[in-house]
Amino acid sequence: MIRTLAIVLGDQLNLDSALFDGLDPQQDAIWMAEVVEESTHVPSHPQRIVLFLSAMRHFAAQLRDQAWCVHYQTLDDKTYADFEQALSDFLHQVSVQQVQVVLPGEARVLHRLKAACEAHQIRLNVLADRHFMALPGEFKTWLAQRKKPTMEYWYRALRQRTGILMQSGKPVGGRWNYDADNREAFAKQGPPPLTPPLRFEPDALTQAVMTLVAQRFGEHAGDLNGFDWPVTREQALSALDDFVRHRLALFGRFQDAMWPNQAWLFHSLLSAALNVKLLNPREVIQAALEAYETGAAPLNAVEGFVRQILGWREYVRGLYWAYQGEWLQWNALAAQADLPRVYWHGDTDMACMREAVGQVLRYGYGHHIQRLMVTGLFALLWGVQPKQVHEWYLAMFVDAIAWVEMPNVIGMSQFADGGLMASKPYIASGQYIHKMSGYCAECRFNPKQAEGAQACPFTTLYWAFIDRHQAWLSTHPRLAMQVKHWLNMSAQKREAILRQAQDLRRNMA
Ligand code: FAD
Ligand code: SF4
Repeated sequence: MIRTLAIVLGDQLNLDSALFDGLDPQQDAIWMAEVVEESTHVPSHPQRIVLFLSAMRHFAAQLRDQAWCVHYQTLDDKTYADFEQALSDFLHQVSVQQVQVVLPGEARVLHRLKAACEAHQIRLNVLADRHFMALPGEFKTWLAQRKKPTMEYWYRALRQRTGILMQSGKPVGGRWNYDADNREAFAKQGPPPLTPPLRFEPDALTQAVMTLVAQRFGEHAGDLNGFDWPVTREQALSALDDFVRHRLALFGRFQDAMWPNQAWLFHSLLSAALNVKLLNPREVIQAALEAYETGAAPLNAVEGFVRQILGWREYVRGLYWAYQGEWLQWNALAAQADLPRVYWHGDTDMACMREAVGQVLRYGYGHHIQRLMVTGLFALLWGVQPKQVHEWYLAMFVDAIAWVEMPNVIGMSQFADGGLMASKPYIASGQYIHKMSGYCAECRFNPKQAEGAQACPFTTLYWAFIDRHQAWLSTHPRLAMQVKHWLNMSAQKREAILRQAQDLRRNMA
């Protein structure tokens, strides 16, 4: 008889989890399972699957070393379709008084676990997740007091409550926000010298998982070879140290910049380790604050980085749960097109898409501006159904989990929430990509041209988007001017641009 069966999910690999409070290795047991649905409900990038399974197996070994009784169901042992089936089968075999789990990162998983426990009439105890910095209920209370949930005010409220980057009740340095210093592009010759990020050779356990993934999910888009993401806490801590030493100082200035053949630039590459909870956001923030205090990194970099973790990360999680059943219903721009095939192979003359998609296929990674202003922007301008865009992002990035991916994709990048997160859609022509990257110099298209043989598809689709949405855009204080520019073009030019957009759709769909 097991007193409490404690479930550890693949994104809950932290020993300081509330899950372990009051558990006793003599009476309680841990349950972990690899089930097919988690890799196939969207066809996950092989590296995303390896990261989760390998990190889970390493964590299970660590638990066993600490004398926990771990019941671990691997995909090699038996193929369970989903968590409901796997847990139900286990509850048939073993007598359990109660099951407990920390709130999963996706509502779908919670429903599966609930269904299994209900079928066996066993209580499921769902615990709050103290990995996050917001207190349970804090976001909901904050949200209830606002007309519009602007990230900036949430971030300020958390800074005030936690005292992070605060001095005598005021923001350190006198400003809340150093965004204005953090939008630099690289000079013509490219980024300053870059130290390649620390990577992690797969050990025997990871190699076994890679073999399994190649056999079971080899047909999914994305390269498996070359996997070298951190899968243990020790590796994740080394990755954090590597970022703070070599990239944090320039993280702020070049946060939005892009460059050909440079996937990592000054980004931290910590999102996957944070999301599976090998790292705690408090220790990540603390490491950045120490770099500021010792003079190793300037305030604009440290504030910019803290804003991502304390601000954006906690904000999207709050929004995910607040509108949990609604995200996938939203389609404010009535976008109906299918996701163009280029998202699955990256084979295109558009240098920016070739780079951004190619990188995702190779590493399961793209940095924020590539996600928002290349792959996200292209889908927005193309008018792809938000659910299809969501499924691509959830499948293809090693750090993708519904609570963080969904608001970023459906809300921030596709504006399908009708302006809940952003005051306007993130639309731009190829000129933005030209300003912020070195891609256009390597491209056969010209970002200034919207029609003709060298027309940049982003620029063509930008004007087609303005045309399609002109009725409501002309009432928007920050976008009405773009409608005017469009209408000031000659009728002949507008027709040519719209024809070009149609041709693109025919050729690329
Ligand atoms: P850095 O640029 O070094 O940023 C530091 C950390 O801040 C990240 O590790 C991450 O934990 C946090 N962060 C930064 N921006 C955000 C944000 N907007 N939301 C939440 N956390 C943030 N992030 C994910 O973790 N998983 C996703 O599935 C995901 N999907 C996204 C989809 C789109 C369309 C967009 C625009 C953004 C998405 N993001 C997602 C946010 C962000 O792009 C990634 O967190 C970041 O690129 C990860 O790389 P990094 O660790 O090098 O981040
Ligand atoms: Fe991308 Fe257009 Fe620039 Fe080519 S010209 S890299 S398609 S923005």
